[in-house]
Amino acid sequence: VQPSRISLQLHSYGFGNKLLLTRDITSVELADTMRRDFVANVSHEIRTPLTVLSGFVETLLSYDLSAEERERYLLLMNQQSQRMMTLVNDLLLLSRLEGTPAPGTAEWMPAHELLDHVVEDGRSLSDLIAEGSHDICADAGADFELAGSRTELLSAMSNLLSNAVRYTPPGGVIRAGWRLLPQGGAEYWVSDTGPGIEAEHVPRLTERFYRVDRSRSRETGGTGLGLAIVKHVVQRHGGQLRIDSVVGQGSTFRIQLPASRVRPLDLPAKPADA
Ligand code: ADP
Repeated sequence: VQPSRISLQLHSYGFGNKLLLTRDITSVELADTMRRDFVANVSHEIRTPLTVLSGFVETLLSYDLSAEERERYLLLMNQQSQRMMTLVNDLLLLSRLEGTPAPGTAEWMPAHELLDHVVEDGRSLSDLIAEGSHDICADAGADFELAGSRTELLSAMSNLLSNAVRYTPPGGVIRAGWRLLPQGGAEYWVSDTGPGIEAEHVPRLTERFYRVDRSRSRETGGTGLGLAIVKHVVQRHGGQLRIDSVVGQGSTFRIQLPASRVRPLDLPAKPADA
């Protein structure tokens, strides 16, 4: 818990009258510290690939390299610039999420369509980083429609699935699906047979740049912003993000959306106004 910080100001007025103004500046200071930390984190995250890139450029300029060696360096440079691009795109997405009004309920889309899209991307990622060795399965439950921003929902869903792929060792099992909740609303869930996450880390996972295993995150192209993006998208849709994890067994991440954003498929169109 952050200790309280109080600002005191003594004003004199009239003949010997004094006025003591007290103001609780805890939240102002906290916001300041968070902003400073964020800028330091972003700078660090950008500097790392930049340092590697400039090292490669120097090597290319200073040494007489064979065509194969040049190509190898260029490919590595390409990787680093892609990494910076992903980071900048995630940062822009986060700031858009923070600075725009929450999506309404004008756009409805079938849950299974979003799921198919995301699962296909998950399989491509597994092909890329684990020779497709994960068993990735979409759970086709009852279908229904969801209201919100398609881009945001796809981004949140695919962040959870790609994390499952990235953190689950080759050969692991990953399941994902949408289902209706008995209390109303609907839930997207992704479960994996990965390493699991110790309980002490769970509450901090949605903080920007918080990573349990920094090197695993970097190796697989993580920016440390994925779950922060998921949390924002879920909150903007009036929902909740739940995380259950058992070390050594795996994790389940759930996005729960409220009943106001869920309806059965093929509702008859509203009659036009007379
Ligand atoms: P990153 O880009 O590092 O994956 P995220 O915000 O998506 O950033 O996730 C934050 C951290 O949460 C990750 O670095 C990782 O330590 C942990 N994590 C997320 N998903 C999983 C998962 N399915 N299994 C194990 N750890 C996970």
